[in-house]
Amino acid sequence: MLSEEFIKNGIQTIVFVRTRLNVEVLVTYLKDLFFGKLGGEGRVRGYRGGYLPRERREIERGLREGSITGVVSTNALELGIDIGSLEASIICGYPGTISSTWQQAGRAGRRHSSSVTILIAGSDPLDQYIVKNPEYFLGSSPEHGLINPDNLAILYSHMKCAAFELPFEDGEKFGVETTGEVLKYMEEARILRHVGNRWHWSSEAFPSDEVSLRNASEENFIIIDVTAPQHRVIGEVDRFAAPMMIHEGAIYIHEGEQYQVDKLDFEGKKAYVTRVEVDYYTDANLAVDLRVLDVFKEEGLSGVVKSCGEVMVSALVTMYKKIKFYTHENIGSGQVNLPEMEMHTTSYWASLPEDIEGAISRSELENGLLGLSNILANAAPIFLMCSPRDIKVVCQVKSTFTQRPTVFIYDNYPGGVGFSEKLYELHGELYKTAREMIEQCPCEAGCPSCVGPLNAFSGSENPKETTLKLIDVILGTK
Ligand SMILES: [Zn+2]
Repeated sequence: MLSEEFIKNGIQTIVFVRTRLNVEVLVTYLKDLFFGKLGGEGRVRGYRGGYLPRERREIERGLREGSITGVVSTNALELGIDIGSLEASIICGYPGTISSTWQQAGRAGRRHSSSVTILIAGSDPLDQYIVKNPEYFLGSSPEHGLINPDNLAILYSHMKCAAFELPFEDGEKFGVETTGEVLKYMEEARILRHVGNRWHWSSEAFPSDEVSLRNASEENFIIIDVTAPQHRVIGEVDRFAAPMMIHEGAIYIHEGEQYQVDKLDFEGKKAYVTRVEVDYYTDANLAVDLRVLDVFKEEGLSGVVKSCGEVMVSALVTMYKKIKFYTHENIGSGQVNLPEMEMHTTSYWASLPEDIEGAISRSELENGLLGLSNILANAAPIFLMCSPRDIKVVCQVKSTFTQRPTVFIYDNYPGGVGFSEKLYELHGELYKTAREMIEQCPCEAGCPSCVGPLNAFSGSENPKETTLKLIDVILGTK
């Protein structure tokens, strides 16, 4: 491991990974390697959303003071937090945007000595595109931030922060005509107090505690360790991640320490866990369904229709797999019984011609749609200031709404943040780029770097060819 070499030689290193689970798996490996050698486990730490504020401050201080040699983090340490300057930054997987990449690289670099940043490309199409087209990264300017100011969840959080800084006055506008109504609502929620013609902050909490720059959802679940008679809260998980991370039977890893979830009180938003030592972690399967609620815009293009509108996404965790550390073998599974999570968001979709099933076989259609899901999820972030996690692709062989084979891409945030509207405008560009990415891939019939691993497809067709066929139909070039 690259990070092992740096840390072993006392080079203060930050490793950026994409998910909270990746943080914990890597911290587990590094702690295994260094236990005892670096004068205590405390030299290597994890850092991610879900750690308690006290713990986060302690890690930040350790990095500034040099008592921590290695930290594995999600983009939570990318900006805004003072951790001093480290000597090496290892970025595991392209973060999705040019600006994020520079931010992560910028965590290494002292004024008077040399530093190093290493970007390790993953096998997915977006990472491969970046390393094959370095001019995209080195030659273009960082993307412009994209945010939808009318998203009520985002607006509400920002107004709270503004009101905390300075009282609002009657008649004042905060971007929208309905500012007064939002202020009244905040008074009812006991966040503000209306005195004279001013709205004063009256809540005890700091507003920014609840605001994430990238995520508009609130309502966290807390995780309680009940191993010892004295129960203690060890972390938290946001509402949408809870069914994936803290379902009953899940192994919740925190700073490389393992806990098994014994009970999840879904209504009460609490998970009860106990310390365990096992050689596996868990990974939950998420089944996603999507329903169209409203169409904002629509345009017919030679048989294909592109649309943009509001959708309801429902996500259900039905089972999880136990994955062995190091070998990644699947060593068992379990059932999950949790309510469906629902989210209203915005989506952009392309519906294929009704008669396409006459031109290609059913299995070609299914395989092509599967290939499209994989490539589009990686092509879209090239145009948006977002990581592949911020959008999701759902393909339906026959959508109940459009009655046609349909490819949906939706904003993976409640209320939507503007990605779908932008993709609707970029429709042609998006599919052209997807085509390029598939054609640039040197593989024969398909691989994780283009349309997805071959074992995901059924039938005898070449998945690369069937995906390209569908792209041609969508672009009207065939
Ligand atoms: Zn390939």
